[in-house]
Amino acid sequence: MKYLSYGIAAVLVFFGFVFIAGSQGVPLRIVFGVILLGAAAAFVYMARVKPQPSQTTIVQKVDLSGDMNLEQIKCQNCGGVLDKDSIEIKAGAIFVNCPFCGASYQFEEAPKW
Ligand SMILES: [Zn+2]
Repeated sequence: MKYLSYGIAAVLVFFGFVFIAGSQGVPLRIVFGVILLGAAAAFVYMARVKPQPSQTTIVQKVDLSGDMNLEQIKCQNCGGVLDKDSIEIKAGAIFVNCPFCGASYQFEEAPKW
């Protein structure tokens, strides 16, 4: 389809120039030639704007080694603020090993990071 459009455009351009070159000063032929060139441009344009497959990039940031906002994670048992060494992510769930009270449990709510 794309190459067909370019082929039609090429033919239109050819006839457009033929009309303009052979116009011999006849305005109607020049107008017709310009219309053909315009149609050719339209064909090229349509061939070019063919929708391309959209690339959706889903960025998932799970970085435990980085500067993760850990102020939100507090021990549900003693309320102590947990650092990155006291939490562990297994299969999407967050497990807490509290260094203050020794509690070990699965975090119920997802932290807001
Ligand atoms: Zn605790």
